[in-house]
Order: sequence, then C-alpha cells, then structure tokens
Amino acid sequence: MISQWNNTEARNLVKHYEKLGISKDIALRIYTSRLLGNDSKLVLHGGGNTSLKILNTNNKKNKNILLVKGSGKDMAKIDLDGFPSLELDNLLSLRRFNKMNDFQMVNYFKKFMVDTTYPNASVETLLHAFLPHKYIDHTHSSAILSLVNQQNNYSICKKIFDNKLAIVPYVMPGFDLSKKAIEIFEKNPNVEGLILLNHGIFTFGNTAKESYLRMIKYVNLAEKELKKNIKQRKNIKIKKSKIEAGTLANIFRKHLCVKTNEDFKRKIIYYNKELFVNDFFYKNNYSKIKGPATPDHVIRIKHKPLFIDLENRKINNIDKFIFKKINLYKKNYITYFNRYKKLNKSAKMHDPNPKLIVVKNFGIFSTGDDFKEAKIAMDLGINSLNSINDSFKYNNFKSINERNVFLMEYWPLELAKIKNNDLSLKGNIVLITGGLGTIGLATANKFKNEGCEVIIIDKIDSKVHLNDMTYYKCDISKQNQINQVLSKILSKYGGIDIVISNAGYALQKSLLDINKNILDRSFAVNFFAHHFLTQKTVEILKNQSIGGSILYNISKQAINPGKNFGSYGLPKAALMFLMKQYALEFGKNGIRFNGVNADRIKSGLLTDEIIKKRAKSRGIDINTYMKGNLLKKEVKPEDVAKAFFALAVSFKTTACILTVDGGNIEASLR
Ligand code: ZN
Repeated sequence: MISQWNNTEARNLVKHYEKLGISKDIALRIYTSRLLGNDSKLVLHGGGNTSLKILNTNNKKNKNILLVKGSGKDMAKIDLDGFPSLELDNLLSLRRFNKMNDFQMVNYFKKFMVDTTYPNASVETLLHAFLPHKYIDHTHSSAILSLVNQQNNYSICKKIFDNKLAIVPYVMPGFDLSKKAIEIFEKNPNVEGLILLNHGIFTFGNTAKESYLRMIKYVNLAEKELKKNIKQRKNIKIKKSKIEAGTLANIFRKHLCVKTNEDFKRKIIYYNKELFVNDFFYKNNYSKIKGPATPDHVIRIKHKPLFIDLENRKINNIDKFIFKKINLYKKNYITYFNRYKKLNKSAKMHDPNPKLIVVKNFGIFSTGDDFKEAKIAMDLGINSLNSINDSFKYNNFKSINERNVFLMEYWPLELAKIKNNDLSLKGNIVLITGGLGTIGLATANKFKNEGCEVIIIDKIDSKVHLNDMTYYKCDISKQNQINQVLSKILSKYGGIDIVISNAGYALQKSLLDINKNILDRSFAVNFFAHHFLTQKTVEILKNQSIGGSILYNISKQAINPGKNFGSYGLPKAALMFLMKQYALEFGKNGIRFNGVNADRIKSGLLTDEIIKKRAKSRGIDINTYMKGNLLKKEVKPEDVAKAFFALAVSFKTTACILTVDGGNIEASLR
C-alpha cells in the first residue's frame, strides 16, 4: 500500500476551504479522510472513522471541540457536513462513569453537539475523544484484519508492531471499548496507534499527514508480514460447469423471494466471478468460519456466507440441492437467533436468508432488497473473504465468538446506519424496450421512482443521464441480441419481473404502396420482437416461479385504425391478440400480460413535424390538435407511464388493455 498524500492536492484543498472560511486543520482532516475512504483495502461503504480536536487554549470563552465522523457517513466523499462537532470537555467528563448504556451514550452525544442539524456522531466517538491526539484515523484494513483474526493474534501483533502500537483485546464498540482503549494507551503513551483485536486499527498524530502516514506504514507492515508468510497453493484446476452463473443466480432468487399477501418480496442477486473463493473449499476451510472479519461488516453480510459445492452434482438435481442448502442455512440462523435473543430483548429477527452465497468454481453471489444493498454486500464480501482467505493461508482464521457476533448484528446503533425505503416495487427488476424514447424514458423513470431496478434497452446510443438505471444497446428484432441482454440481466440482478415491451416503429403509407418488404420490417419490430422477447422472458419467469408481468405498448391502431397507418396497425392488432394468447397459456404460472393503448403523445413516432402537418390538414393549431379528445387535455408520456405502473401493480388483472388518450369514443373498447 502506498501513500496517496499529494502536497499540491492538499494545498489546493486548503485554499478551497480557506475561501469558505474553514481552517487549514479542518481542510486537511477532510483531505486525509477522503484518502482513506477511497482505498477499498482500508475503508468500505461508510466504514472507518476519523476525528480532529480543536483546542482553544487561550480563549476561555470558546470551548474545546471534537470534530468526528458522522455515523455511517461515507469517507470517500466526506465534506464538512459529515463531521458533527461536539464539546470535548463534556465528552471527557464521561470517563468518570463505570458503565453506560448505548441509549445514554447517544443521548450525551446529542446533548454535547454544537449544532444539532449535523448527523449523529460515530459510535466510536468516545474512543476518539478520550485519546489525547489532535488527529485520529480508524480503518478496518483487510491486511490488518487477516492478522488480528489469527488464533494467537496477540503474540503475532506484538511481534510485528513491537511497541509502536498498543494492543486492545476485543470489546464491542461503544463506551466499554473506549474505556478499555484509553486505559491501555495510558500504560504506553508513546505508541503511534492501537491494534484492536478482531476489529481493526487506529493511528494518531499531531498533523493530518502524520496520522495518515502512520496508517499507511502499519498497514504496509501487515501486508509485508502476510506476503512473507503466506503459503501460496497450487492453482486448483477449475472445472467448467454445465450451468451458467446467471441461471444459478436465478435459482437462488427463486428460493430467496418470499411470498407476501398479493405478490412476493423480491430480491436482487448480484454475481461476481471471484475464483479465489475456491480456496475455502480446500480442507473444508469454509466450515471453520464462525463470524465476520470485523464486527463492522456483520449488519451487511451476516456472520458468514452460505458455501455451496456443485462440482459433482447432476444438473437436474441442482435446484433441489440449492433449496436444501438455503433451508439449512435459514434453520441454523434461526437457531442462532433464538440462542442469543435474550441478550437483546427488543431484537426482531432479520431475514434468515444468506446475504452472500459462495459457489465453488463460480464465485460470489450477493443478495439484497435492492441492487444497492446487494452491491454493498458484494464489495464487503470480496474484501472480507479475501482477508479471511489470507488469514487461512497465513495460519488460521478465528473471529469473535457467536455471542459477540449477535450483539453486534442486533446493536441498535449499527442498525440505525441502514436506511430502508419501502417503495411499492422495491426488488422488482424491470426491462424496458425502446427505453430511450419519450414514452420509454418516462416509464423507466416512473418504475425507478417506485423502487425498481430498471434496465433500458434501445438500438440507439444513450446520450441522456440515466440516473442509476442500466442501459444496454440492443436491436430487439435480433433474437441473439435479446438473449445476450437477458443473460446479462440474470448475472447482474438474478432475474426479471416486469417487461415493458414498448419499442415500436411506424411508417405512413397507403395500403396500395405497401410491399412485402415494408410489411416485413414493420412486423419484425411491431410483432415478432414482442413475441420473441416474451417467449424468452416467460421461460425465465416460469423457472423463477414467482409470477411476473409483461406489458405491451399496443397503440390505438389495434382498435381504431388511422388512415395510411396500415403497415403499423396490422402487426399492432396481431400484438393485441398475442397478449391475450399469452395470458391464456401462462396465467397458471402467475404471469400476467396486459397492454396500454395510448394515442396522440409527442414521441419518436409522433414528431413535432407530423403534429404540425396533421394540425394543418385539420385547419386547427397544434395546441388544439394535441387536446383533441373528450377531456380536452394533452396526453403526456408520464400518463402512459402511470398506466403501465397501474397494470404492473394490479395483481389480479391479466389480458387487459388500458386506454390512455384523453377520451376517444371511436378507439374505446367495448
Ligand atoms: Zn471500527
């Protein structure tokens, strides 16, 4: 690990904050916090914390202040608003207590805050406060974790860090750990930092640079120690499996989604090919993992992953085998919860399913209520499993015991870091064709705002900002491109729930001018593409066994033809029939098929130019033309999006067409 400190960068940041009236000390506190936060081997997703003490020795009116990272704040992007200020002398006065519960501790933090609009202070605030140093840095470095989780961690750390770092035995974070750490520090006040067994590392200094460089120095020492002593194993031959990773992810999804009143609580399964995990199957090392590499990870990835070896499984037996494995994991988790729940009377059991599934020859599958959660679990999983793997290769891995894991997993102060949203379609995976068009994009945004993971496909290049949505370039009239996209979706998300088959193509011509070529092109996009995409999706939905919804943009043309739109109307009328046929054949699988008939919406099919032409031919202005319906209101792409959404959440509706046209009696369904 090399230092990322850069004098020019540091100077520029100091200048930048100077203009805002913020001191150099604070600017550099922000700078090195970001340096730590940007190194995934040190800090991940809101982990780690840093602090700065501002002592006002001459001015008695001004109090001494501790600036400490806000709980759960991401150090990689931290700014001044991520550092609440607390009255240091008051914090120090808390040392007089022998015991303090979490509720009291957090209450004191709030009471001593200089400005209560800032986020809550880190759960490790008192540790920062009690130590006398100006700058303090704390990380859960992977290399340090490989060593502090050794069976004989104390003597190993003693040997490597000599007397430069004091060693603190494992104590759960909070008041007790802060007391323990300061007591140990005071026995040897010349140390440059602390090693927290089974937890991580603290360094400190008089300047931001000194504290940061010490962090790098000691992490380096740990890395060197590992490198020197790790026994590299011969590369184990990886057997190629007959089953694809995406298919496997889909099987996991099937068994992890839970039935609710009307639908399912759907999950995201995210896959990463990480073949180092094969090492865990060496001498069944995985069975020795009882807890996490650091308590900081446990709320995100549970105490351990589910490990699965499919090497000698018959392909038609895999589904059943996985079901059994997941059930066993759940059963063990429930037993673990029941064994320790007396330690925390208010604890409600978390979802007992695994957060990480490690499969030999494949890698890691992470799970989450949404993609963000699955991604965080994956990032923490990769780091923590790498660290655990190095522990085994160094000698062995021994985490904190189950009781301590439980205390951490159900610690209210940790749980407060996880923000939950309960949007109606959270966990649903939605694919939208023609997603870059006006209606497509409005629909994509609607489903995104309802909590879905949205995948947009289109044959044009994406130039718009897609706000956390996935985009794949795809010509939907090419079956192989559709298959490729679906397989990408399976490995990134684990499945699919809703398809909005929206892409269309219209040409204005009299029937007398339509040759077979024109009709073929129109049918390719307006009928066959819908059919082949549905066919492939239904295969996935059937395997997934948790229902699903296919929605078509059918168009008014299917009901009420417009002059010279024959080549468009014909396949659209067939599409309406296709929807009914699918609804008839796959209703028993819980899959619903519905459509939207929309009309007169500004889009790629109805351009400004066409609107102008049509308005002119009717002798009216554009505005009147657009509002030419019973309600006299212009219909917007957002209105179509709402109709798609309404159908998606109408769990007892199938083979239905919803009209969105402001009212047109000729096009109304009877
Ligand atoms: Zn920590």
